[in-house]
Amino acid sequence: MTTTSSGDLFADTPLTGQHAVITGGSRGIGAACADALARLGANVSLVSRSADALATKKQEIEAARGVKVATAVADVADPEEVETAFAAVTDALGAPHILINNAGIGKSAPFHRTTLDFWQETIALNLTGAFLCTQQVYGAMREAKYGRIVNIASIVGLHGYAYIAAYAASKHGVVGLTRSLALEAAKSGITVNAVCPGYTDTDLVTEAVDNIVEKTGRSADDARAELASTSPIGRLITPEEVAETAAWLCLPSSSAITGQAIVVAGGAVQN
Ligand code: NDP
Repeated sequence: MTTTSSGDLFADTPLTGQHAVITGGSRGIGAACADALARLGANVSLVSRSADALATKKQEIEAARGVKVATAVADVADPEEVETAFAAVTDALGAPHILINNAGIGKSAPFHRTTLDFWQETIALNLTGAFLCTQQVYGAMREAKYGRIVNIASIVGLHGYAYIAAYAASKHGVVGLTRSLALEAAKSGITVNAVCPGYTDTDLVTEAVDNIVEKTGRSADDARAELASTSPIGRLITPEEVAETAAWLCLPSSSAITGQAIVVAGGAVQN
C-alpha cells in the first residue's frame, strides 16, 4: 500500500478554470505543488530563476495534465523582477486565484558565523519574497472576493533549532505573516495558511547532507539517516505529501480553514 499519495483528493478537477502561481515551481516541493494543482484542473504558472528548469517542468505538466502552463524567470527577493513576472503570468493566464509562496533557501550556520549578508539573504528570499509575491495577487483577490494563499514555511517556523537562526527567524516571520493576513483577509473570501514540513526529500536536504558530510566527515548515508530520524515516522517527508496538503488548502471547499500552520512532519512537532 502506498504511503505517499491520497488518490481520492484527485478524483475530480475542482480547480478547473483557476490560475495558480507557484514560486520555486521548477523542482522540489514547488514542482510537486504545481503538479498537484494541475491534477486538480488548475492552469499553473511557475516562477523561479532558471529558465531551463522552468521549461522542462512546463513541458512535463502540459503533457501529463493537459492544463495551460506559463513560466516567468525571477528572483522573488527582487521587487522589480517579481512585478514583471506576475504581470507576465497574469497576461498569460489571467488574475491568479491561488498563490503558493514556496521559493526558499535553507542554509545553516552557527550564530557566531552568521554574517549580516547571510542573514539578509535568507530573510529577503524566504520572508520578504513571500510578502512581495502576495502583494502582487492580493488586490485582484480582494476584488474577486476569492483567493487561496499557501505559504510553505517549515517546522522551524514554529520551533527554534540550533545553527539555523536566520532560517528559523525567516520561517517564524512567514507564519506571523500568514496568521495576521488571514485575519485581515477573512471577510474577503481569501484564505491564508502555512504548511510546515519537516525534512523533505529535495535538493535542499541533499545540500544539508553535503554540508554535514563536509563539516563532520560522516558518510552521506549517515547524515541522511540522522535527518530522517528527526521524524517519529523515521523517514524523510516526500514532496508529494507536502504538495497534497497545500492542494487541499487550495480547494474551494477549504474556505473555513485560514490562519493555520499545518505541520507535515510525521509527528515531529505537535501544535
Ligand atoms: P529546492 O531547493 O528543492 O527548490 C527550491 C525552489 O525555489 C527551486 O525551484 C528554485 O529554483 C527556487 N528558488 C530558489 N531561490 C529562488 C529565488 N531567489 N527566486 C525564485 N526562485 C527561487 O527546495 P525545497 O523544495 O526543498 O524547498 C521549498 C520550500 O520548502 C522552501 O521555502 C523551504 O524552506 C521549504 N521547506 C523545505 C524543507 C525541506 O526539508 N526540503 C523543509 C521545510 C520547509 P531556482 O534555483 O532555479 O531559482
